This record gives sequence, C-alpha cells and structure tokens, in this order.
Amino acid sequence: MITPYRIGYGFDLHRWENGRRLVLGGVEIPHEQGLLGHSDADALTHAVIDALLGALALGDIGQHFPDTDPRYKDADSMEMLRTIMALVGNKGFQVGNVDSTIVTDAPKMAPHLLKIRRSLAKDLLVTEDDVSVKATRTEGVIFPVTNGLLAMAQVLLIRRSI
Ligand code: MG
Repeated sequence: MITPYRIGYGFDLHRWENGRRLVLGGVEIPHEQGLLGHSDADALTHAVIDALLGALALGDIGQHFPDTDPRYKDADSMEMLRTIMALVGNKGFQVGNVDSTIVTDAPKMAPHLLKIRRSLAKDLLVTEDDVSVKATRTEGVIFPVTNGLLAMAQVLLIRRSI
C-alpha cells in the first residue's frame, strides 16, 4: 500500500560477558562487563536496525547480517546501520524520528544518552532532536536484566515522494 509513512519496531537482547566491550548506539560505555555477540553486540543499534527493516517489511537483522558469516565477526554495528540506511534511501524513504528504550540495571545510562542520540542521529541522517534514547531500570524484577541488556526501538519513516 502506498502510504506517506511507515512505522517499524525493533527489539534486541544480549547477554553480559566479562572481557567484552559495552557499545550502545555506537558509543563505548565504561563498564566492568560488555555484551556477548557475534558482532560488537550493540543491542540498541540492532533494535534500531530491526525497526528500520520492520518499517519496510524487509526481514530482520539476522537475514541481512547472518551470525554464521565471518565477515560480521566483531563487526561495527554502526557500519551495519549505514548499510541498512542505504537500503531505506533506495526504497525512497527517510527517517522521521526514532524512539528507543534501553533496559538495564547497570551501568547508569543517563550520563551517556545525549552522546548516544548524537551518534545514532548522524548515521540516521537526522538531528538529535529526532532521536530519543531513554533508559529504565527494572530493579531485577525481569529475569533477563540480571543476565543481559534489552533494547527496544520504534521508527517512523517518511516517503520522500508518492
Ligand atoms: Mg543483537
């Protein structure tokens, strides 16, 4: 259906692992643990990528960047985001805005949120005012949070012309 807007939703979860870096939205965050994954395990960027793909019904991140492919071992997820943004552009769309939430009990995310918004905005070809990154703690209520970090994102895409 030809509509001026498309919305998408993305969700990701990665397990904590000693000796790994914590990278969220392309920003490295000092923490005693990082996230385990085939790529750099940037759960927030993965959620944004899945939201972009979801908005255009183009599958999911695993189909575009298989974790069985050695090219994506320790891959920079922002590079993956740029690849998907090229796809979004080729389909005739641009990002309107993004809203996202990181769910983790540690580290404290507030000091890093603006930097993360700016980092994502750069590759989403919008301004930081168009990228919301929120963070919430669960105080251990939800099982996975003690073992990992969750990220969720929603995106609105705008068709450049109809
Ligand atoms: Mg992931």
